[in-house]
Amino acid sequence: MSLCYVAFGSNVGDRLQYVLRALELLKRYGSVKKVSTIYVSQPWGKTDQPEFINGVLEFETGLNPIELLFALKEVEKSSGRRPRERWGPREIDLDILLYENHILMLSFLRVPHPHLLDRDFFLFPLLEINSELMHPLYQVPLIQFAQRLENRLEPFACLLPP
Ligand code: AMP
Repeated sequence: MSLCYVAFGSNVGDRLQYVLRALELLKRYGSVKKVSTIYVSQPWGKTDQPEFINGVLEFETGLNPIELLFALKEVEKSSGRRPRERWGPREIDLDILLYENHILMLSFLRVPHPHLLDRDFFLFPLLEINSELMHPLYQVPLIQFAQRLENRLEPFACLLPP
């Protein structure tokens, strides 16, 4: 079994329901060990769209990173995600932030996530559930990167432990 960290986000419709549905569907592929606080965050990239809710979960799975990516795409589809423009609004978005201490540089999958260090809604919830994590590429504690990043997140909800 492998331990990985998956970010989730939604900014369309009943955002919490999309997140809860995705968390439920993820159980088909492994076990959710921890879920961070869910935060409200400002849209990134394309800024003229509704606010997001975001969080990070710790997930234990027997899938390899590529299988996990395809599983996340399935969960997105089954949770109600509709095809839309890149960086535009989405019912649910799931991203692999870390997979053990693996480094992958494929055209369709990069791990650690290429924006792990510059998105507050990735880095702060990730550190909330595991403050000891190291960056697999730089071999530096992730907490050091958090000191340089502005945290604009507002708490939205806390789920009961899985
Ligand atoms: P998105 O619009 O956030 O759903 O992501 C678009 C694409 O990013 C996906 O179809 C993936 O192939 C690609 N991608 C690259 N690295 C990652 C990653 N670490 N986690 C999730 N998707 C990724």
